Amino acid sequence: MKPPRRTIDLRQVNSQSILRALSLGGPMSRLELSARTQLSPGTVTNVTNDLLEEGLLLETGVEESLGGRPRTILDVNPEYGYLLGVDLGETHVQIELFDLSRRKLATTRQQMRSSISIPDEYVQAIALGVKDLGIGRTVERSQILGVGVGVPGIVEHNGPVSVAAPMWGWRPMPLLEMLENALQLPVYIDNGAKAMALAEAWFGAGRGVENLVVLLIGTGVGAGIITKGALYRGATNSAGEWGHTKLVLDGRPCRCGSRGCLETYVGAPGILTTAAELGLSADLPDDQMAAFHTLVRLYQEGRLEAQALFRQTAQMLGAGLANLVNLFNPQRIVLGGWAGMLLGEILLGEITQAVRAYSLTISMQPLEIRTCYFGQDAICVGAACLVLEEVLSLNPKFMRRRAL
Ligand SMILES: [Zn+2]
Repeated sequence: MKPPRRTIDLRQVNSQSILRALSLGGPMSRLELSARTQLSPGTVTNVTNDLLEEGLLLETGVEESLGGRPRTILDVNPEYGYLLGVDLGETHVQIELFDLSRRKLATTRQQMRSSISIPDEYVQAIALGVKDLGIGRTVERSQILGVGVGVPGIVEHNGPVSVAAPMWGWRPMPLLEMLENALQLPVYIDNGAKAMALAEAWFGAGRGVENLVVLLIGTGVGAGIITKGALYRGATNSAGEWGHTKLVLDGRPCRCGSRGCLETYVGAPGILTTAAELGLSADLPDDQMAAFHTLVRLYQEGRLEAQALFRQTAQMLGAGLANLVNLFNPQRIVLGGWAGMLLGEILLGEITQAVRAYSLTISMQPLEIRTCYFGQDAICVGAACLVLEEVLSLNPKFMRRRAL
């Protein structure tokens, strides 16, 4: 007799919580799993047996227990399938291959022409990168569970997935469909800052806290907001466009069409504009990242204009962060993105002081500011987490794929 539907759903929910507990905190014994998931030992045994049979889990060893039988240790099977994480950046495309336990197996990075952003060029660059990683040679295509892509635009999930990047002149376009056609693999897309926030919250600098903001500061500026352990998305998944909050009325023109946005002061091009205003541009190379590194060096050497530049930047960033603190009351803020990490390295004390000066004492009280854990890999790891999320939720699309 067919079991009632409610039973099937409950089994699915139990499998999800066990798989998630092992992926985020494994390896562990069935007894620990029972304590962690609040499921009965009998349910844990039944569900883990199913997952072992499916090949999603492995028995990795035994641990002695006081006065009892030795306990088997379980973990996610890293070779069950592989994840691809793509960081589609404003100046580069980076792709990384991970096994199911998130061990990085291979990586490839291509520089893109930053002045021109044609969607087809990015799709081709990703297809080429996937080929370079040996997919179809060292790893079978059928073993790839999915390709996660972090993009700098706004990704709408209501209806067909579309990506809008007004700063690139990208009107909402079906990037997911374009990539699935080019790669012939399942693709999951989200905003890069949101993907990065997932990676840092699950496995990085945000572990152990439920309310967290992860900042992505590079050419553009964005935020991934985690409240009660889950991503805050807003009505159309565009929450976190923190770079376009207003800091100066009638301030610098922004590429979003408005003026005075935070991004125009604390994004890398904004900081270079301030550097030019302070008379520092003659000393700088043309390349944005190289120019930024030169400014950091001048600051560390004690050049007065560079000190004024970063003092001003710390104040602007501190004010922008204080707005986030007053709105979301996070326990932790994580500074990421290539420029964000550099700013964190040289200015963490000044930035923290400015946040303290501009936010409400009560909102600031639990706050700790850190630099991100995954560094340059953060968006790739986050993008792979978009696929992992589907695996952990035993998404029917994914399970059907396995059953084929
Ligand atoms: Zn703007």
